[in-house]
Amino acid sequence: MKKFKTPDDFYNSPEWLRLRYRVLRHYGARCLCCKRNDVVIHIDHIKPRSLYPKLQLEFTNCQTLCELCNKGKSNVYKDDWRPPHPVPKLNPSKMMAFLNKFTS
Ligand SMILES: [Zn+2]
Repeated sequence: MKKFKTPDDFYNSPEWLRLRYRVLRHYGARCLCCKRNDVVIHIDHIKPRSLYPKLQLEFTNCQTLCELCNKGKSNVYKDDWRPPHPVPKLNPSKMMAFLNKFTS
């Protein structure tokens, strides 16, 4: 794991800036908690960096929060405000039609 000496080193690193951009691109510049988009948006580490340094550059540990929500969450909570991943719905008749292609 790459070591960053100071928070500034981390938050100015190309690795973080690339990840930060990916997260903004994915979720948009809005707070996933209070839904505001007219405020300063932070990229939050769901599991705080201070406690889980190994996850500091993991896309799956990042979400967009506004400055106030992020400060409120701090390193006290691990709340995940990301929308749930859509679960593909199985359509039984389509499934049967698909399977029948192989049995007839
Ligand atoms: Zn917010």
